Amino acid sequence: ILIRAYHRLCHHGNYHADFPLILPDIQSPMNFLTNIDSPEAQTLRYRMVSEQIAARGVREERVLEAFRRVPRHLFLPSGPFLMERAYADSAQGIGSGQTISQPYVVALMTEALHLQGTETILEIGAGSGYQTAIFSLLCKRIIAIERHANLAERAGRLLNEVGVTNAEIRFGDGSNGLPSEAPYDAILVAAVAPEVPTTLLSQLTLQGRLILPIGEEHGPQRLLLFTKTPEGIQRQDLGHVAFVPLIGASGFGLPADLGDMDI
Ligand code: SAM
Repeated sequence: ILIRAYHRLCHHGNYHADFPLILPDIQSPMNFLTNIDSPEAQTLRYRMVSEQIAARGVREERVLEAFRRVPRHLFLPSGPFLMERAYADSAQGIGSGQTISQPYVVALMTEALHLQGTETILEIGAGSGYQTAIFSLLCKRIIAIERHANLAERAGRLLNEVGVTNAEIRFGDGSNGLPSEAPYDAILVAAVAPEVPTTLLSQLTLQGRLILPIGEEHGPQRLLLFTKTPEGIQRQDLGHVAFVPLIGASGFGLPADLGDMDI
């Protein structure tokens, strides 16, 4: 199943004066419809950025602006206390036993890639599509893989609805990356792997970056950043994290019910 976010919604409606639709240093054509965002949500997002993200040391203005612009509440399943859940300082359930990561963790991982706007990114574990939407404002092209069909379908639809045109969601096991579209300037894995899948490092460009949690399914995990340099692979430890497991050939094992999946 291949779900492409084709559709561009061009709407230059009544936006908050402090919330310009087109920013000179932000990539994307993403133009949110006024009926899927609100001043209340914008206020919560600005607070989320200042109190949860900037306050913990994320400094890149392009990254902070992307988090101000993407309506995170759209990427959570609807239900009671949606706004509180969406802008809380924690991960939240998105169904199928999966989570949308804590805003700060998404920001930390995004900033670590130091995106300039020209990059092609592989994202493994698209989940809700929120990280993909953030990336869409900061790089040229994203391929995001998700192993739950219902999540992949929903993420593709949401990205389509908010007008993302530079991302595609693919359904399948992404634990070995996607060699057919390599190389990538950056690879982000949003689920913990038992060890670094070396095949992912081989899919990076020179100076390319791989960020992923490594550790145990129910134990300690570290967020690691690898950079491919002419001298070899550099490794940086960005601290403790808690992620759901990467399930698949280079993850915590391929469940029998899935078999081989095309991506
Ligand atoms: N960044 C996502 C977001 O913004 O919603 C959250 C990702 S969630 C923490 C991790 C996701 O990785 C889950 O949706 C899970 O189904 C997915 N996943 C786990 N193993 C995978 C694999 N081998 N290939 C693709 N996706 C996988």
